[in-house]
This record gives sequence, structure tokens and C-alpha cells, in this order.
Amino acid sequence: MKYKGSCHCGGVAFEVEGTIDSALACNCSMCERKGSLLWFVPRAKLRITTPESSLSTYTFNKHVIKHRFCSNCGIHPFGEGTDPKGTATAAINIRCLEDIDLTKIPVNHFDGRSA
Ligand SMILES: [Zn+2]
Repeated sequence: MKYKGSCHCGGVAFEVEGTIDSALACNCSMCERKGSLLWFVPRAKLRITTPESSLSTYTFNKHVIKHRFCSNCGIHPFGEGTDPKGTATAAINIRCLEDIDLTKIPVNHFDGRSA
């Protein structure tokens, strides 16, 4: 499946390929505030179709995850990092994807606050 996604103003748009089996809701200080539902894919499956200059980056704590957001409307469509094996990974905020029914996607809760 190929999904299209964007921020609110359209300054950031992307395509991502894969199958959404479930989403992750994390309770860390960042995710709890954003309310994002995350879907992890290899970074190579994410293609950003708008200029890199539209994206800002926020990091905190260990600064290993790049929380990317639109510098105009402030929406966070995805983050970038590496998995434990060192593979570049993207965490897609599936709330920013088009044509998906969020009520049909199982949500797993992750205790990021304690991690
Ligand atoms: Zn935007």
C-alpha cells in the first residue's frame, strides 16, 4: 500500500509505502502532548515530496530522534531515527495520512514515560 500524507498547510507532503498493522500511542512527554499515533517504517519507505526547507527539527532528551514538523503550521507528520539494529527508521504520524480509517487500526500503548 502506498499512502499520501501531509501537514495541515501542505508545506510538507510525503508518500510512504507499507502495511499499517497497528499504531503506537506513546505517553512520553512529547507524544502525549502531540497526540500522535505512530507507525514505524524503514526510512527508505518514506519519500518527502516537498522542499526540505519546509521542515523544522526538534530534539530532546538523548537527541536520537529527530521530530520533524512543518515550520509554517506546526504539525508533526513524522520523526526520524534509527532502530536498535542501526537501521534508519521513520515514525509516521498516521493522523497525517489521507484515506485511512483510524477507528479500524489497533492501537498499542507504549510506556515511553518510563523508558
Ligand atoms: Zn504545514
